[in-house]
This record gives sequence, structure tokens and C-alpha cells, in this order.
Amino acid sequence: MGEETVENLSRRGLLAAGVAAGVPLGQTGVAAASGGGEPDAIVIGAGYAGVTAARELAARGLRPLVLEARDRIGGRTWTDTFAGLPVERGGTWVHWSQPHVWAEMMRYGIGVVEDPAPDRAILPTPDGPRSFPLDEAFGHLGELLVRFFDGAATLFDRPFDPLYNADAVRPADRISLRARLDAMRLPARDESWMSGVTSAYSGGRSTRGAYTQMARWWSLAGGGFDKWNAATGHYRIESGTIGLLTAILADASAELRLSTPVASVVDDGRRVHVTTRSGRRFSAPVAVVALPANVWHTIRFDPGLPAAHTAATREGIGVPNGTKIWIHVRGDVGRFFAQDAEGGPISALIPYRETGDGLLVVGFSYHPTFDGSDLAQVRAAVRRQEPKAEVTAIKAQNWARDEFSLGGAACQTPGQLTRLHAALQRPSGRLAFATSDIAAGWNGYIDGAIESGIRAGRQAADAAGR
Ligand SMILES: Cc1cc2nc3c(=O)[nH]c(=O)nc-3n(C[C@H](O)[C@H](O)[C@H](O)COP(=O)(O)OP(=O)(O)OC[C@H]3O[C@@H](n4cnc5c(N)ncnc54)[C@H](O)[C@@H]3O)c2cc1C
Repeated sequence: MGEETVENLSRRGLLAAGVAAGVPLGQTGVAAASGGGEPDAIVIGAGYAGVTAARELAARGLRPLVLEARDRIGGRTWTDTFAGLPVERGGTWVHWSQPHVWAEMMRYGIGVVEDPAPDRAILPTPDGPRSFPLDEAFGHLGELLVRFFDGAATLFDRPFDPLYNADAVRPADRISLRARLDAMRLPARDESWMSGVTSAYSGGRSTRGAYTQMARWWSLAGGGFDKWNAATGHYRIESGTIGLLTAILADASAELRLSTPVASVVDDGRRVHVTTRSGRRFSAPVAVVALPANVWHTIRFDPGLPAAHTAATREGIGVPNGTKIWIHVRGDVGRFFAQDAEGGPISALIPYRETGDGLLVVGFSYHPTFDGSDLAQVRAAVRRQEPKAEVTAIKAQNWARDEFSLGGAACQTPGQLTRLHAALQRPSGRLAFATSDIAAGWNGYIDGAIESGIRAGRQAADAAGR
């Protein structure tokens, strides 16, 4: 398909949400790809980071060309449908404590919708999963989290400058979420409640995630369980993630080519030459690499990537397991929330919408061998939590097996913040790097993608002398 026009995007419904959000079709900013001269900049990747970078470049008077591997924009965000309702297959929740995404929503006049509150919580006990009144469950989990994050606010009192207290951050950055948990010496039940949280953010194993990573997010949210919940899991973009993304793209006046995976990037010191897998070549004075850190190693860079980027893509920043599963449940189950302990097949089940005959639930699995697209496996995992739940349909997205993300949302491992963070923000030659994975604040969130896109757009425009 390669070249993409407004009409093509619109026909496949990609712009529908954007139009619903008030973006007139004629102003989508997706220029007909008619080869209107050489671009001033190439942006590789059309997720939130890339699209934001393209808009920043346009604001500085450059004409960007955006090359995207998939047949859609959005990357790890993906507004789709399930059971006749709009759903998100990746990133979803936003909040006003996330300044970059919130500013964009204000700018484009886009509001939020709230998820329904659960009416009870099913949590692990030594005797198996048990249903608790919500106040009791969240009250206690909240106390545990406050203890877990004791000191986080001091460590990250300027959370958008995560190395501001470098002397204190350095030793804390050696500690994994598991090490911090073990140091609390919790009774078995409390340990299983907490490990359900820490393993989920780590992508399966609490030993993988850095304590500083979650402590930074906790500080950004303002500290406290209610603030944490509100910031990370309650408010959705009313027009879907595609609605806001389309609005940003509309201001980029960019030429967009979908289904155009990039194979190599050569910076000859004067220009950047980009070659696609099908052998098409593009060149421009500067480029923004707006790809997940986990896929950088799939592209040939000449000269090679800087040492920090090489280490980051080898180690991975996006979590190594991450499947989001939309589940339609029948039965008299109310609006249950469920969370399993570390090692469980589905980490969390969160109510999304009551339907006439049941409940739409979103599940997150970080288990390395669990297949979220297998109805029988999902049925068994949901029944384990709520025996009355009859799963009738599912839709799953395994981001770790997706060749264009090779991982889920970002979660730094111990040491990555102190070793790599500062260097990952710097441009290299005529290349700037944009992805939520390397953001200073809400890395691993849509907010971080926008933050990094703004930074990289500025860096690339500077390098182009504009
Ligand atoms: C399951 C899940 C749940 C999440 N939940 C939330 C949430 O509730 N709230 C929140 O704020 N964030 C959430 N996130 C995180 C958020 O979605 C991401 O941080 C953000 O979307 C990343 O944006 P990005 O532009 O950095 O990367 P991406 O969105 O991954 O964009 C990179 C783009 O590069 C493209 N690409 C890859 N390889 C090539 C190539 N060779 N050539 C050309 N293009 C290529 C990709 O196709 C993609 O479009 C979640 C993520 C996941 C996976």
C-alpha cells in the first residue's frame, strides 16, 4: 500500500474517531503522498512520539515525511472495537497529572470518560482467590503501597528531572521491585497482593523492574493510593487514543506512508538516508527515530547506535511479556475487579462496561507461556478468579510478540536510570530519538511519548538549523 491519503485512512475508519473528535476530514494534515519534493525531515514511526515530533517539526517550518511500518497509526495505542463497543488494545488511561497529554487534550478540546468503579475486589489468599469489599481491599492495598513507596517523594521531588537527586537515586536504582518487597517481610497474603502489582509493572517477574521506576511514577502521581489509581487507571480519552492522535497529526501537515517498515538508516554527516524493507530510499537533512527502544536493534544504523542506545535495545526497556485481553463475561458477576499474585496467568481483570447480558472486562497477562488468544485458557483463568463468570468471547493483543514493538509498556530495569537515561535523551549526529520508553517523566505512558516527541522534534529542528 505504501502511499496513504486522507481518503484511504478515512475509508478504513482510521480517521473516524478523529472526525468524531472534531477534526474535519479536510484538515487531517495527512498530505496526499504525491512526492511533493524532498522532505525536510524524516520521522520513523507513527506512534504518539513520532506524530508529536512531526508536529513540532512542522511548527518550526519543516516539512516532515512520516514512515510507519504498520497499516495504521498509533503503535502501542490502538483504538479498535469489541462486542460492538470501542476498546483500546494498548495504552488507554490518561490524567491531568500527566501534563503533556493533558495539554494536548485541552488544546484540541477533547475530554475524558470514566471507567466504572468495581463493586468488589477478588484478591489472592493462602486458601485461593477471595472476594473482599472494595473499601477493605483497596484500603489495605493502599496502606501497603504507601509503605512500599516510603521515601519516593524525596527521591524524586523533581520527578521530571529523575537524576536531580543523583546521589540518593544511584543506590536506590540498584534495587529491584522484588528486593524492595522482600525487605518489607510481609505476611504471605500481603506479599501476594503486592507482588501482583510489582510483577505486572515489571512484565511478569518483580525481579526485572527497578524500584526507582515505580517510585518515579508514584511521585509523579502525587503520592497516595487514590492519586495513583486516578492517574494510572480511571480516565480514558473520550474520542479514543486515535482521536487525540489524529488531532495532533492534523497539525503536522506531514506526508504519511503506512505499511512502510524501515530497514536501514545512514547518516553521512550531511544528510540522513533511510531505506525501507522493500528497497525504497528517502533522504532528508535530519531524522527522528520514533521507534520503541526494543526494536532499534532490528534496524541497521550507520554509523552504529551510541553505546547507551545499543545497551538499551539489547537489554530491552519495554516489558518482555504483555498481553491485553478483552473479555466478554456472562453471568451474575457484578462489576468485579480481580488481581492475582505474581506468576498468575492473568494479573488483573478490570470492569469496563456492563452489557445487557453481562460485563465487558479488560485483562492483562504477563505470564510468559499463557496464550491470551486461546479461549479455553482465558476461560480457565477467569473462572479461577470468579467461578460464576462464563467467558463468551475474547480479543487479545500480545505486544511482546508484535514485531513492531517487541515488548509492552516501558519499565526500566535496575540500573538503567543511572546508566542510560541521560545519554538516551541526546541526539546522535543528525538523528534524534523519540519514544515514551526514554521519557524523563511518565516514561511508559502516552504522556512520555508526547514529552519525548516534543524534545526530539526540537533537537532535529536545531540540527537542521531551523
Ligand atoms: C498493553 C498496554 C497498556 C498500556 N496502558 C497505558 C495506559 O493506560 N496509559 C498510558 O498512558 N500508556 C499506556 N501504555 C503505554 C503507551 O501505550 C506507550 O507508552 C506509548 O503509546 C508509546 O508510544 P511511542 O510512540 O513511544 O511508541 P509506539 O506507540 O510503539 O510507536 C512506535 C511506532 O514505530 C513503528 N515501527 C516499529 N518498527 C518500525 C520500522 N522498522 N519502520 C517504521 N516504523 C516502525 C510502530 O509500528 C509504531 O507505530 C500501555 C501500553 C501497552 C502495551
